[in-house]
Amino acid sequence: MTELLPTSTAGSLPKPSWLAQPETLWSPWKLQGDELIEGKQDALRIALNDQRRAGIDIVSDGEQTRQHFVTTFIEHLDGVDFEKRETVRIRNRYDASVPTVVGSVSRQKPVFVEDARFLRAQTDRPIKWALPGPMTMIDTLYDAHYKNREKLAWEFAKALNQEARELEAAGVDIIQFDEPAFNVFFDEVNDWGVAALERAAEGLKCQTAVHICYGYGIKANTDWKSTLGTEWRQYEQVFPKLRTSSIDMISLECQHSRVPMDLIELLRGKKVMVGAIDVATSTIETPEEVADVLRKALRFVDADKLYPCTNCGMAPLPRHVAQAKLAALGAGAKIVRNEIRSSKPS
Ligand SMILES: [Zn+2]
Repeated sequence: MTELLPTSTAGSLPKPSWLAQPETLWSPWKLQGDELIEGKQDALRIALNDQRRAGIDIVSDGEQTRQHFVTTFIEHLDGVDFEKRETVRIRNRYDASVPTVVGSVSRQKPVFVEDARFLRAQTDRPIKWALPGPMTMIDTLYDAHYKNREKLAWEFAKALNQEARELEAAGVDIIQFDEPAFNVFFDEVNDWGVAALERAAEGLKCQTAVHICYGYGIKANTDWKSTLGTEWRQYEQVFPKLRTSSIDMISLECQHSRVPMDLIELLRGKKVMVGAIDVATSTIETPEEVADVLRKALRFVDADKLYPCTNCGMAPLPRHVAQAKLAALGAGAKIVRNEIRSSKPS
């Protein structure tokens, strides 16, 4: 990655309406069998093209081949019964009917490896692949087997590591673990959450990232955000531990968030994916608004470690909105890139 300020997205992009119901999480597929496989691949190619046209440097599958960023991975594991459901509180925020852990969890087969190979074959750009983090996975289930959050997280970390190693072998450049739960369970993050994350990333030679956000732009999350006060200091609780961790990159929510930008200083030395696109509104950022967030971040991140990004996934947004936001991200990063270049004596 030689380009200064390489852009990427946090993960998901909206799916085409012929593949799944738009603007909905856990949206059921509209195709079946071979048509579904082909439809997902076509959607992936479109998502890739949208990123390329917007000037996104590190591209992804836009999560076109999965229904949900946590559930789809868990569905492929042994030990979880999706018929047996219990209502639990997710991230202390909203109730959801979730599957039950009924036995030892294990990964018997690859989950996303074929999809990653397909993406790799479509582009020469660096590719990033997102997986759920262990703590966020356990928070989306009812555990009737281990009855111990740390133990279950550790077992998931082992399964994630098997998947991650195969994704790396398939040519993935950055493997990102999504851990929105890190913004909620601070004591657990410090006790065992970061250790479980490192276990998931153990032995990887590619770049590793963790994405920590305030969630998709759905009502439960925006309601929660409105209770957090004028300064969001959640990151302060977990950054010191992450700074000394083996994880290379940290992906954060910065556009329109009330996170004091100087908290990023606590990550000094790490690469930081700075969220400069708000996914909780359909209002399109101007390139200048994107540039403004990046300039502020540059006070606390070295330019060679700053990766402009989106706050979170854009799956629930209308497609034309997501496309326009991608373009704003690409254009905003370009402004700041040019400023950095012109301020350097050549
Ligand atoms: Zn997110």
